[in-house]
Amino acid sequence: MKRRRIYLDNSATTSVYPEVKKNMQKYFSKIYGNASSLHYFGRQSKIVVENSRIQIAKLINANPNEIFFTSCGTEANNIAILGVIQAYGSIGHVISSSIEHHSVLHTCEYLNKSGHIITYIKVDKHGIISVKDLINSLRDNTILVTIMHANNEIGSMQPIEDIAHELSKINKNRKHKIYLHTDSIQTAGKIKIDVKQLGVDLLTISAHKFNGPKGIGILYIKNGTKILPITFGGHHESAIRPGTENVPCIVGCAKAYEIASENLNEHYEHVSKLRQKLKEGILNTIPDVKINADNSHILSHILNVSFKYIEGESLLLMLDMKGIAVSTGSACTSDTLSPSHVLTAIGLSPILARGAIRFSFTYQNTITEIDYVLSVLPHLVNDLRLMSPIWRSNKL
Ligand SMILES: *Cc1c(COP(=O)(O)O)cnc(C)c1O
Repeated sequence: MKRRRIYLDNSATTSVYPEVKKNMQKYFSKIYGNASSLHYFGRQSKIVVENSRIQIAKLINANPNEIFFTSCGTEANNIAILGVIQAYGSIGHVISSSIEHHSVLHTCEYLNKSGHIITYIKVDKHGIISVKDLINSLRDNTILVTIMHANNEIGSMQPIEDIAHELSKINKNRKHKIYLHTDSIQTAGKIKIDVKQLGVDLLTISAHKFNGPKGIGILYIKNGTKILPITFGGHHESAIRPGTENVPCIVGCAKAYEIASENLNEHYEHVSKLRQKLKEGILNTIPDVKINADNSHILSHILNVSFKYIEGESLLLMLDMKGIAVSTGSACTSDTLSPSHVLTAIGLSPILARGAIRFSFTYQNTITEIDYVLSVLPHLVNDLRLMSPIWRSNKL
């Protein structure tokens, strides 16, 4: 018998839209020229790369020359942060938050080791920073503010527009402009992204989070932003990201973003229903649970739940045996099981942080799948709790 498989880990990655896959195919073997070559084959590739750039620029309200293709979201975040600091040329101050993705946090840590100063703004219990705190921590040498648009573990959204508004007032009297970067990887393809409305100078997107191919990212860099490359080679992507263009993935990224944009509201409503159904079902059938960061500033494709008295990893494995794929809130390294920095930052006790599970949805998930999850989850949680000494000492 074929096992039923339910994929609820769409914040980790998604499947590629069938149309996207179809669109990409001919760029592997039919139109395969190097987009930098001057001959016919090269020109063919160059045209599709530039058309994809125009397509994406239009969808996020940017100019095509502000769109840079990278090898992934991680690389785009690295270029944004390190590139702006490089161009600044002296010891700079960067403001970020305590709940950023590791591609931002570890880049900031690297900068700190090279002598730059980093401030990590704390978040409240809903996973949201205070704009006032951010503005209060500005210094004379602050050069960059990098705050994610929405968090990948709990879905909390940051007030990027408000930050941009405050910074624009402050920037009027500054010798060096404070740039604003946002990691928009969890919001792109889920809610409308308009770079002008957001007021950002740099913004990161990754295709594989909205049913595009893996290994392709976009960095939006507003015209006039002082930035230098962090890797060196040819003149691809205006030398900001040298390396032969990944034509199939660039095409796939643009197509996926187009499809996602066309279905934004419909998909959003759909995943909201799934989230609501799962949330209510869990609250109604399982005691000692906590819905993490649950408020109106939450993206509707993420549901993060803590099941008290159990290890998230154990539940993940039990769910996997039932054919259900989810992720945990903890970063499991080889010898330590440290709770996630995000869940710790929103004030969860270690016992709640360790029992966290992230369910993340996409347009393909169905109510029937949620029903199935709800039919197995309470039993699994109960079984695990019966094995937990802490639970037993509390309950039996
Ligand atoms: C997935 C993700 C990244 C990394 O993007 P890749 O394209 O996988 O390198 C960065 N930030 C956030 C918020 C993400 O969800």
